[in-house]
Amino acid sequence: MAALAACTSQGHIMDKRLINLLLVEDDEDDYILALDYLQEIPDFEFNVKWLSDYDLIMQSLQDEPFDLCLLDYQLGAHTGLSVLEAAKNMGCATPFIMLTGQSDGVLDAQALTLGAEDFLVKSEINSVQFIRAIRYALARKDIAIERLERLKIESDSRAKDRFLAHLSHELRTPLTSIIGYTDLLLSRAELDSIKPELSIVHSNSQHLLALLNDVLDLSKIRENTLSLNKSNFALSPFLADLQNLFGIAAQKKGLLFTIEADTPVPEFICSDATRLKQVLINIIYNAIKFTQSGEIRVLLTFEQKHNQSVLNFSIRDTGIGIPQEKLKRIFNPFEQVQDTTTRTEEGAGLGLAISASLIKLLGGNFQVDSVLGQGSTFTFLIDTGVSSENLVNLNLQQPVALQHKALTTNDTLQGNVLIVEDVSNIRLLLTNIISATGAKVTSVDNGQKALTLLSDEQQHFDLVFLDLHMPIMGGREVVVAARSQQITTPIVALTAAALKGSEETLQALGFDQVLTKPIDTQQLHECLTHHLSAASNERDALESEQPIATQTKKVLLLEDDKDARELMGLLLKSLGIEVFSAQNIQESLRVYQQEQRFDLVILDLNLPDGSGFDAAQAIKNINATQQLAIISGSEPEPESLVALGINHVLLKPVSLPDLQKLIE
Ligand code: ADP
Repeated sequence: MAALAACTSQGHIMDKRLINLLLVEDDEDDYILALDYLQEIPDFEFNVKWLSDYDLIMQSLQDEPFDLCLLDYQLGAHTGLSVLEAAKNMGCATPFIMLTGQSDGVLDAQALTLGAEDFLVKSEINSVQFIRAIRYALARKDIAIERLERLKIESDSRAKDRFLAHLSHELRTPLTSIIGYTDLLLSRAELDSIKPELSIVHSNSQHLLALLNDVLDLSKIRENTLSLNKSNFALSPFLADLQNLFGIAAQKKGLLFTIEADTPVPEFICSDATRLKQVLINIIYNAIKFTQSGEIRVLLTFEQKHNQSVLNFSIRDTGIGIPQEKLKRIFNPFEQVQDTTTRTEEGAGLGLAISASLIKLLGGNFQVDSVLGQGSTFTFLIDTGVSSENLVNLNLQQPVALQHKALTTNDTLQGNVLIVEDVSNIRLLLTNIISATGAKVTSVDNGQKALTLLSDEQQHFDLVFLDLHMPIMGGREVVVAARSQQITTPIVALTAAALKGSEETLQALGFDQVLTKPIDTQQLHECLTHHLSAASNERDALESEQPIATQTKKVLLLEDDKDARELMGLLLKSLGIEVFSAQNIQESLRVYQQEQRFDLVILDLNLPDGSGFDAAQAIKNINATQQLAIISGSEPEPESLVALGINHVLLKPVSLPDLQKLIE
C-alpha cells in the first residue's frame, strides 16, 4: 500500500521546513494516528509517503532522498530490523526511527546497533519524546550533511592546490627555454646592440618566475607542506645584505632607508634565513614602492618573554598608507588596496599573504598599523630559536666582503684588474669577489690615481672597474682622458642609476660595459669571465704558437624533453663543456659505459623508462664516485638524494649562471 499525504499543523506552510518522510507501517489505524501526531509538530510540514510492501520500501529508499523514515517493527514476513539492515547495507543515508508495539530492550539495542537514530514505543507517539526524537534525528542529519559539504569543500580546495602546484611545475619548462635562451643571447658580444630588448625579455621572465614561485609557495602553505630549513646564521651580515639590496633603490627615489636595533641583539639566531629574508624583502619592497617621500625605517628589538627569546621587527614607512577598513584584507591572497584600473605599481597581491603565513611558521605573528596619507608600520616577531644568546650591537658596517659568498673560489681566471671606487666597503667587496676568481687586484679610491696607473707603461691591466661618482676626478672624466691617450684597456662603469639610455651614453664616452649597483655578483662574474678569459687567451697566443692543451670537462645529460635537452646542451657548450646527451635511462647507460669518464652526470627526474633516481642508482652501481646532479621542476625528496649521495639539485628553469656554478 502506498499513499502520499501532506500534513501541516495550522495550514500556514510558508515559513515551515518541508520534510520528506517515509512511514513504513502495515496498520492503517496506526498510519492515521501517526499522521495526526506529525501534524502537531510545529515548524515542520511533513510530506508523508506510506508504504508497507518490503520491495517497494527498498526501492523507494534507494530512489528517493527521504529526510526521515519512521519504521514499524512488525512488517508481515519481514521486520523493521531487516529493512533497516538492508537499507544501511545499500548505503542509504536516511535517518530511521524504529517504532514497536511495546518496549523491548533487546530490540532497542539491536535497532541502535544497526544504525537507527532512535527507538520508540507506539504508545508514546503522542509524547514530547516523539517530537524530540524527530527533531534530533533531523538535526543529526543536518550536521552530517554539513560535515559532508565541509569535507567536499576541503577536498575541492586540496584538488585546486594540487592543480596549482602541477601548473606551476609545468610552466617552469617553457620558462626554462625563455630564460635560458635569453641568458645565452645576453652573453653574446655580437648581440650587444639588442641587449636592452633582450634584457626586457629577461627581466619579465624573471618576474613571471617570481610570480610562479609565489603561487607555488601559497599552494604549499595551503596544503601544509611548506617546510622550514632552520640553521644558525649571523644577524648583522644578514641585515647588511638587505641594507645593500635596498639602500640604492631607496636612494634612487630620494628616500632614506635605515636598519637599526634599539637593543643589543643575538649575534646568531636559529631560523630559516631564506624565508625570513623573503618576508623582509616583500615588506621593504612594498614600503619603498608605496612611499614617494620621507623614509623607510627597519627597527629591531630583542626581548626575552616567558623563556622564549624573540626578535621584533618593525618596518615603518612614510608612504600613502592603507585605509583602516582594508587593513585586514591585505593579508588575503590577490588583495590590493588600489583599484586595478588606477594603480600604477605592478604586483599580484600575493606577497603579504605568503609573508603572514611564513611568519606564523617562524613562530611569530604579524600586525599592521596605518594612517592614510601618513604611512604604515608592519610589525612582526619571530622566535630566535636560541636560548643563551651572545648579545651584540647590530653592526652593518663590517667588511661587506664577508657578507657575500664569493661566487667562485677556484683560481679559474687570470689577469690584472684595477678597481676604482671611493666607497671603501664597495671597494673591499669587489676586491674580495674578484681576487677569489684568481685575478690580481689593484684598487684605488679616486679617478686621478686610476688615470696615473693606466698611463704608466710599467703597469698592465686587463680590466678596469670604474665608479662614476668620485671626488677629485669622476669616472666619466677618467674614461674620456684614457681613451684620448689611446689606452684601450676594457673599462666597465659602475653606476647606481640604470636609467634608460644612460648605458648608450656611457658607451659613447668610451666605456665597454656598464654594471649597476647593487652589484649583481652573477653579472660581475660573467663580466670577469668575458674579459679575463679573453685577456689570458690573448696572452697565451702571444706567448706561444702552440696552444696549451687543457682538459675539456665532459658532461652526460639525461633529459627526455627535446627542447630542454637542446637548450641545456647549448648552455653547457657555451661554458666550454663537451656534452653527451641521452633521452632515456637505457641510452644514458650505454653512453656512460662507452665514454668511460664523465665529470658530471645531470639527470632529469621524470623519464620515460623510470625516474632519475633509478638512473642515478644504475650509474652509481657502475661507478660509486660519479658526481651526479638532478634537475627537477619541484624539490626532490631529500631522503632519496642523501641515499644516492647526490649533492647537487637544480630547480627548473635552469639558467646559465646556475650551470656555471654547478660546473665550477
Ligand atoms: P603586491 O604584490 O600587490 O604589493 P602584497 O601582498 O605585497 O601584494 O600587498 C598587498 C597590497 O597591500 C598592496 O597591493 C598594497 O595595496 C597594500 N600595501 C602593502 N604594503 C603597503 C605599504 N607599505 N603602504 C601602502 N600599501 C601597502
